[in-house]
Amino acid sequence: MSAHPTIGDTLEQTVDRHPNREAIVYPHKDQRWTYEEFDERVNRLANSFRESGVEKGDRVATVLQNGSEMALTVYACAKLGAVFTPLNFRLPPGEIEYIVNDAAADVVVFESSTRESVEGAKPALETVDSYVYIDDDVPEYASGFYDLLESGTAERPNATVEEDDVYAFIYTSGTTGRPKGVVHEHRSMVEHNLLCIAEMNLTRDDVGLSIMPLYHCAELHCNLFPRVHRGATSVIHHEFDPVAALEAIDEHDVSLLFAAPTAWNALSLTAADSPVDTSSLRLGLYGAAPMPEQVLENCREHLCDDYVQAYGMTEIGPAGVFQPPEDQHPKQGSAGLPGLNHQVRIVEPDADPDQTLEQGEIGEILIASPCVMREYWNRPEATDHSLREVDGTTWYYTGDLGYCDEDGYLFVVDRKDDMIVSGGENIYPAEVEDVLFAHDAVEEAAVLGEPDEEWGELVVAYVVADGVSADELDAAVLESDDLADFKRPRAYYFVDELPKNPSGKVQKFRLREDDDAVEPDAEITT
Ligand code: ATP
Ligand code: MG
Repeated sequence: MSAHPTIGDTLEQTVDRHPNREAIVYPHKDQRWTYEEFDERVNRLANSFRESGVEKGDRVATVLQNGSEMALTVYACAKLGAVFTPLNFRLPPGEIEYIVNDAAADVVVFESSTRESVEGAKPALETVDSYVYIDDDVPEYASGFYDLLESGTAERPNATVEEDDVYAFIYTSGTTGRPKGVVHEHRSMVEHNLLCIAEMNLTRDDVGLSIMPLYHCAELHCNLFPRVHRGATSVIHHEFDPVAALEAIDEHDVSLLFAAPTAWNALSLTAADSPVDTSSLRLGLYGAAPMPEQVLENCREHLCDDYVQAYGMTEIGPAGVFQPPEDQHPKQGSAGLPGLNHQVRIVEPDADPDQTLEQGEIGEILIASPCVMREYWNRPEATDHSLREVDGTTWYYTGDLGYCDEDGYLFVVDRKDDMIVSGGENIYPAEVEDVLFAHDAVEEAAVLGEPDEEWGELVVAYVVADGVSADELDAAVLESDDLADFKRPRAYYFVDELPKNPSGKVQKFRLREDDDAVEPDAEITT
């Protein structure tokens, strides 16, 4: 190991320090492994991959639900210098085809729950040499994952992997367009481990429960990786089930839990009626969106007292800005302060990094950190647009809008491309959506700008709602103290559902694409 460790080295360091500490608990398959046992399996898988022709730089794609297999695969790739490429297991064949071909993947690892979609994509997969299947009924064209584990030799693989080698291609969620392959190096991910260890005060006595999908970098890089680096324990759940999660907290004395705000909501509602003891939980982590105050209150009442919010995106690792527990009340609504070694700046959208705006002014959020991606895979223009170097510092243009308050706390306002300019006024759709959401009949709402000759853009709302008219919603908007008149939607579309990416985020670009073809259900003319 050189002085600058790789992701594979972070596991080996832990094995050398704490071989007998518990590494992985995977109740779905009754597996419990110490670090030594986990590392030995990682070595076996890596050596088998190597035997079957996987070389440094080759891409290994996974289409897997959570499991020990995902943990074994990512560390086996790291030790070989192969490029780990996790796909969302819910993707339909067309999306699998797009990502596997874009990444030019050599290997695809899948399982029974993803077999149909992988087989649907298979005829169009151009670069894949081998398939690996993790369940017992191995299809004729695939190798069995557990056969590879058994047949591989146990010594550490003899591969030279450097800190600036590529560790993974992690695809973005595809909220604003097609998913982009984010190229992360070992070095930046090791830095990201240290960041998360520090921001969560992670100790080797912590036990973390993984209920969010490991294909997404939030669970993988903010939770599993730092725990392995530190020598803490990871309990992995195959899928999210709030009842099973609460029981696991009780059974395994889980101390750390990461979940999206919607999952925290489900957990707190379940915990309210459950006798299980969650007193071992010392810290909850959430991200992807701010947590509604009521949900946070319920979580405090029924789960644990302290929460950390993280803000970021795939391109920076993903966590970059943290709001620690002590700030949750006074700084409600804020994403927090830059994490260790991170800098945040606010500039006019697309302006140079040194043209920073005044405190409180809304602009594009830029981040500089040691965890920023190398580039977008095969997208030099998108890379040039997103990464700009000034005086030796590389700034990542997040595409999000926000402002910093007098204490330096970041408030995220909306995505830059979603901002509406109507009659010369800037309108942030999230504000209008919040008012619509507050109406009891509204399940979902998306507000966007429609091209308009007179106003430039017209504010329109797409809503999923039962038993409410556009006039009633308009009345609710007019009554709201929070919204100026120019933010009022001028047309309403009532729809059965909103287009979403597989992580559940609304894809406004799809609504814009369809917009010309559909007439609004109601126009507000007064
Ligand atoms: P794509 O880049 O393909 O359009 P995406 O941006 O949704 O997809 P991710 O990297 O998974 O893909 O998500 C990052 C985005 O999620 C951020 O740019 C931001 O808009 C939003 N986000 C993340 N954390 C928070 C948070 N704590 N508060 C508000 N928004 C957040
Ligand atoms: Mg993004």
